[in-house]
Amino acid sequence: MRRGTNLPWVGDYNQAVVLDGIRRSPGTSRTELARSTGLTLQTVSNIVRRLLERELVREDVRRSAAPRTAGKPRAALSVRPGTAVAAGVQFDRDHVVAVLLDLTGDVLDVARAERDGVGPAASVRVAASLVGTLVAAGVERGTVEPGAVRGVGVAVPGPLDFRGPVRSSAINLPGWRGVAVAELLQDHLHLPVLVENDATACAVGELWRSPPGPRSFLHVYVGAGIGGGIVLRDEVLRGESGNAGEIGHVVVDRTGPECTCGSRGCLEACAAPAAVVRSYVGLVGAPAAHRAGLALTESSVLPDHDLLDGLAAAGDAAATAVLRRADEDLADVLIGVVNVVDVGEVVLGGPGLRRGGPRVRAVVHRRLKAAMSHELHGVEVRLSDSGEHAGALGAAGGVLHEALSSSWSTARTPLRATVISPVAPVH
Ligand SMILES: [Zn+2]
Repeated sequence: MRRGTNLPWVGDYNQAVVLDGIRRSPGTSRTELARSTGLTLQTVSNIVRRLLERELVREDVRRSAAPRTAGKPRAALSVRPGTAVAAGVQFDRDHVVAVLLDLTGDVLDVARAERDGVGPAASVRVAASLVGTLVAAGVERGTVEPGAVRGVGVAVPGPLDFRGPVRSSAINLPGWRGVAVAELLQDHLHLPVLVENDATACAVGELWRSPPGPRSFLHVYVGAGIGGGIVLRDEVLRGESGNAGEIGHVVVDRTGPECTCGSRGCLEACAAPAAVVRSYVGLVGAPAAHRAGLALTESSVLPDHDLLDGLAAAGDAAATAVLRRADEDLADVLIGVVNVVDVGEVVLGGPGLRRGGPRVRAVVHRRLKAAMSHELHGVEVRLSDSGEHAGALGAAGGVLHEALSSSWSTARTPLRATVISPVAPVH
């Protein structure tokens, strides 16, 4: 739970804090909000009155069983559904996923299309069409009020170049390097667009769906590459260039394979699904890998990686060896990150863990337990339950998060370059 401040010049920030408090604790009261935010009851009441006038919030007055002795009836506050909505889009190697997220936290709709290897311009057209269809269907069904869509969040594999219009340097999406994805999408949708690195987007999604916190966690995303998103006491850590959490380019083996980033022996070059499949082929040879069932095509990396998990479970020594090495490399990096940023949780997600997630979780848990002093610093390790649209969900959550706290993030960090036109604050 974020804390408010009673300084007068950050009134909009307090409004964001109160709205976030209501969103994360539906049915809460003004008194409870005052307690959880640290704001005075008078300040909370004033803000709630404004939110009620703007119809972002509603209140249900509940009379207790003994109203005469219980004093004033208790007003339960909650966010009004359908009044503030964001779309989220995620591009990965093979798919475009779009979601519609309500300020209440409900996922209103999800759509998905194959990318079929088409380039960025055609993929963006597909994404725009998916978003347009979702919004139209929401308005038709009455779950989205006309004009309620605050913007579109886009999750793409990092690192991203935030100097000027946000450009993808997505080394894992062939043909996307230097593409100003937000501009392309905005040309089609005419809505504010916010671009986020996919791992950070997943962390925002995790935060967005959290009960009142505060929470500090590292979200690890294993897709074509390996990325990380960091949240410290409910604040998303973005860093100087907007690429904080790029754990995939931490070196785990100085004499290891060359990485697409130009370095050598990065975690991603050693432990991402493609690297693990390559290591397996290096050990057993391509003919034996084919006989074991691996397709070894450019689009078969994830299924082949899943298959290695099955082979290891069935006793295949080479599969066991390459997966163990990758898991230990990942654990080495996570121990370093947890020591540096002092998070209490590690959340593991992404399509690269859809089969081997429990195995990776067990290794990371064992290594962290051995490495950290649990008396001082217990670290939970768990698998994400956001499913395959975690990045899109997080990107949409990022739009609402920005809209809720825009004045605060403008005041504190100049990283408005992530938004090519400002996301409209929720007023
Ligand atoms: Zn690298």
